[in-house]
Amino acid sequence: MPANIVHANPATGLPVGTVAVFLTQGAALVALYPSGGSTGHGCPTFKWLCLGCGEASYYEDERGPVRNRANGHATDCRAIPWPRPAQL
Ligand SMILES: [Zn+2]
Repeated sequence: MPANIVHANPATGLPVGTVAVFLTQGAALVALYPSGGSTGHGCPTFKWLCLGCGEASYYEDERGPVRNRANGHATDCRAIPWPRPAQL
């Protein structure tokens, strides 16, 4: 299984192309972003990543189902925002 490499936008710290962000109970962010693939029907696929606990989607899917799973994780997750090292 290939590594799940997520490229972050250096200005926001969110995955490149993030289209929606959900807030966890602990104020961490869960990002919904395009995975770069497409379904058999030609629809773009998406993944999600929690910037609080590091949990992520196991597989890519169409936007609607992935959005619902990202929002569901945000509802249950109690992680706080993970501090990032200061940028020089
Ligand atoms: Zn989380």
